[in-house]
Parts: sequence; structure tokens; C-alpha cells
Amino acid sequence: MAFRTLDDADVKGRKVLVRVDFNVPMNDGKVQDDTRLRAALPTILNLQKRGAKVILLSHFGRPKGERLPEMSLAPVAPVLGKLLDTKVGFADDCIGPKAQQAVDKMMPGDVLLLENTRFHKGETNNDPALARAMADLGDVFVLDAFSVSHRAHASTTGITQFLPAFAGLAMQYELEHLQAALGHPRRPVLAVVGGAKVSSKIDLLQNLVAKVDMLCVGGGMANTFLFAQGHKVGASLCEKALAPTARKIMVAAKTAGCEVLLPADVVVAQKFEANAAHQTVGLDAVGDQDMILDAGPKTVSALKAAMDRACTVIWNGPLGAFELTPFDAATNAAALYCAQLTREGRLISVAGGGDTISALAKAGAADGFSFISTAGGAFLEWMEGKALPGVEILKTNVNQ
Ligand code: AMP
Repeated sequence: MAFRTLDDADVKGRKVLVRVDFNVPMNDGKVQDDTRLRAALPTILNLQKRGAKVILLSHFGRPKGERLPEMSLAPVAPVLGKLLDTKVGFADDCIGPKAQQAVDKMMPGDVLLLENTRFHKGETNNDPALARAMADLGDVFVLDAFSVSHRAHASTTGITQFLPAFAGLAMQYELEHLQAALGHPRRPVLAVVGGAKVSSKIDLLQNLVAKVDMLCVGGGMANTFLFAQGHKVGASLCEKALAPTARKIMVAAKTAGCEVLLPADVVVAQKFEANAAHQTVGLDAVGDQDMILDAGPKTVSALKAAMDRACTVIWNGPLGAFELTPFDAATNAAALYCAQLTREGRLISVAGGGDTISALAKAGAADGFSFISTAGGAFLEWMEGKALPGVEILKTNVNQ
């Protein structure tokens, strides 16, 4: 996949509109976590150094087209300014005279943050008039937020009807790692998919069995697969109506030559709570009152052996109810082993989506992975094999 990067852009003295994701956790007007601001620093610094005027666009929360003071991006500007060691200006609209006046005052190297794009209804329904009004403020567009690239909004894709578009450095870094995991990976590829429900991950499983060499299904969703194969799952979380879907996925895997790893043993308890009385049992010994809350040690050994054979691991979802000790044991052991193999240079490991980040962080394994995507919905859609509009425009923009 070839896409245009910052290196391809002529930015000197030009007004560069950069779509970032500053949808940061905020409490009482105070930024609680600056991870997303830090992610944007390399692109902003690169543009500043090259003499561009850097104009930042972002959404924040879901104001649904209304101006809601508690969803203003104003408190973000000084926090970003501190990280950059530069004054970051703020305009309290992302289009129109207020924004234009602020832009007119900019000198090369200046940074300006515009107000929440979602204060305009046209943002989420990709209104060309809004996209045009935003585009009028700049000469070049940079998309630097993979996390919003699954949405065709005015400030993510609409704007590229009017301006040449390039990937920012964070976007480029993310795309290169994702490509290395599923685009042209080193084989064999092992996908580890866990989490609560099959229903939220049908598309993902169907896409993966066609692309990867091994698929390990864990977490609550594995119960549906076990049930579909005739095993008793007692009082476990299980979507019994999806048994035919699970069987179809197994058939598709077989046809594609994808080996599927299901739990061979499980940890059961009768209460869904931390430290509930529990035992490890074989698949034939799950009682009517039992809930399967984690994979057992035999399953973990089989997964580790699969990791030994793999050159690439792609991971989404925990293998058990990881928030409740000790039902985090399988997730922790497998994640730590994956991190170890990665550190030894034997694996490329990519993880992301939903609870995966907190599960891997809780295991103390997150630092060991080659790449962890912080994008939730976009990461899942990418794993599902869907074309992401924000990625497509970087490949095909005709105004370039
Ligand atoms: P997801 O958002 O689909 O990745 O699902 C993550 C959630 O699945 C976490 O809150 C886990 O506690 C939950 N989960 C994983 N395995 C099980 C299980 N065996 N029974 C119940 N919940 C589970």
C-alpha cells in the first residue's frame, strides 16, 4: 500500500491543516491524559521546523452539532503549548471569520488549534459545504489520526475534495505497522482473538480465517465455539443462537487451511467475581452451574507453542475475564510470552482494539509488543479487512 507522506508535501510558508485526534479524557476542563497530544508532536514539530503554519483540527466528544462549552477544545491549547514549548493559539470556531482572522495572523512555525469540528452538524454527515469552509483556511491537508480514519467526516475525508492530502508521522507509523502484520506479513501469522462475544466479531473472524495461518479463539466468545461443537458450557456467557455461525467459521478456516485453536481446558467458577472459588477442568467436566471464566494451562501451552511457530502475532481481546483475578492468568501468561518472543526478535506482534490495551498493560506485557494501536474502532475495522475511508484518500486523492 503506497500512500503520500509528509516527505511528499511542500509545506514551507504554507498553511497546513492537520487533522489530529485530541479527544482526550477531560475532567472539569483539565486534560487527564496527554497520550493523544504527545502522539501528534512529531508531525507538528516536523511542520514547524519546515516553516509551515500549523492549523490543528479535531473533534472532541459528541456534541452532535451543538456548541457545548464542556466540549470545547480550548483547555487543550495550553497543555499542548507546554508539550511543544511554544504558544499554541486558539480560535473558537473551525470555520468562518473567527478562524480566518486567527489564521491571517500566523507566522511560519506558529501553531493554532481550532474549536471542536463537531460543533457543526456537517462534520459527521460529511457536508461538502463545511469541508470546503475548513479547506478554505489552508493550502495542504495532513491526516494524523488513524483512530478517526474509519469515519468519512468533513474533517477527515470531505476536506480532501479541496486540498491535497498526506499522512502525518503518527498515521504513517501506524499504517506501516499494520501493513507489516496483515498486509505483507512474515508467515506464519497467528491471530489471537478473545473478548466477550462472537456477535461483535463475526466480520473479524471471517476475515482472519481467510488471511492468517493460525487462529486462537479465547474469552467468552470461545464458549460459543465450544457449545457449537457439542460441549457443555453450563452457565457461561455463550451466544447459543450463533452456534451455526461459529460452525461456518470453522468450515471456512478448514477450507482456507487456517488452523483453529480452541480452549482444551478451562477455569470455571460459580460466581462472576474476583477470587471466586474456581477450578481447572477438562471440556467434558463443566457443570451446569459453572461459568467458564478463563482458559486453562493446557490451552496456554498450546497457544505458546503456536507462538513459537509463528513469525507474526496479531492480537485483539482478552482470553478470559481479565479484570477479575485470577481469571487474568491465561491472558497474562500468553501476553508475557508473546512480549518475550518479540523482544528476542522472533516475532512481530501487533495488538489493539477495545479492552486489549488495558489487558496487555495489566499483564505488564504492553511494552514488549512491536506495536499497540490505540485506535479502537478503526483498528477493528482494519482487522476486519474493511477499506478505511481516511486511508483510502491518502492513496487516491486526485487533487495531488
Ligand atoms: P471485548 O470488548 O469484546 O474485547 O471483550 C472484553 C470483555 O470480555 C472483558 O470485559 C472480559 O472480562 C470479557 N470476557 C472475556 N472472557 C470472558 C468469559 N469467559 N466470560 C465472561 N466475560 C469474559
